[in-house]
Amino acid sequence: MRPSLADVFAARQVIAGVADRTPLVPSPFMSARSGHDFLLKLEICQPMGAFKLRGALNAMAALPADTRGVTCCSTGNHGRAVAFAAARRGLRAVVCMSQLVPEAKVAGIRALGAEVRISGRTQDDAAVEAARLARDERLAEIPPFDDPHVIAGQGTIGLEVMEARPDLTALLVPLSGGGLMSGVALAARAIRPGIRIIGVTMERGAAMAQALQAGHPVEVGEYPSLADSLGGGLGDDNRLTFAMCRDLVDEVVLVSEEEIRDAMQALFHEDRIVAEGGSVTGLAAVLAGKVRLDGPAATIITGRNLDMRMFAAMMAGQDVTIGDMVLKGRVYGA
Ligand SMILES: *Cc1c(COP(=O)(O)O)cnc(C)c1O
Repeated sequence: MRPSLADVFAARQVIAGVADRTPLVPSPFMSARSGHDFLLKLEICQPMGAFKLRGALNAMAALPADTRGVTCCSTGNHGRAVAFAAARRGLRAVVCMSQLVPEAKVAGIRALGAEVRISGRTQDDAAVEAARLARDERLAEIPPFDDPHVIAGQGTIGLEVMEARPDLTALLVPLSGGGLMSGVALAARAIRPGIRIIGVTMERGAAMAQALQAGHPVEVGEYPSLADSLGGGLGDDNRLTFAMCRDLVDEVVLVSEEEIRDAMQALFHEDRIVAEGGSVTGLAAVLAGKVRLDGPAATIITGRNLDMRMFAAMMAGQDVTIGDMVLKGRVYGA
């Protein structure tokens, strides 16, 4: 059931030509800050602006030929990847999301011709609706993270990073349901067993962090966050990602909304990169002094799907509202 390194190599063949190798670029700013080579794996360059296409394409390719349509629950980026992959195969796609998903992400999914169902307040509510649709309308479900094909697909990132820089001593990985982390850690550890694997997520509603601490998946609340892509629980019956993260992750670090904003600003002003909150948690942890590095390191800039008006306001140092919370502005460098 657990995917292996061979499955990650196989996934690379499956997704080739659609979700291709992304750039791994040095960040001069972060290298100066950390005192070591610091690299950014730019998954923002994937079609649909996030890494999720890797897993979605690999899972879609494993479906039987007579599949009539697909469904999924999503915090936004997985739904967009599934919509894109389904359209390529001429399949109907129904994406279930909660009210917490930003409008920019909903619009991106509709634009691909997929149906969108907004159900409930949390990712768990959306998951219930996707399971119901799978049953009642006989659609194939493409899980956002807890699936061997999805994990193997995301693992191709780890393969690419380690092939390019086998000397890396640490990898910082944005962490939510852990599909990305499970795949990346699986590949990176197979290639360099001693590498330090650090998961980074937001403070409020950190499902995997709390599960790892408790020793089993626990219920967590879901809150508005700049890292909207990292919200949601691990699912009622987590089969793979909890155990894989438990076995493969060295540390989990939590970052605040302010620290996420600071990292988005630094990446924008120093490296001229636009990235969503969930994708900069690795940077945020280093910038906030919560992770000390002792050699070359890399992080995955996982996506860039955000509301550009809010982003522009934040970069200019204005206050922004995130759900029920006001994040006080800070002018970068001031
Ligand atoms: C989905 C997502 C993540 C987290 O991936 P998991 O497999 O759920 O841990 C991180 N960043 C972005 C931009 C995402 O869309």
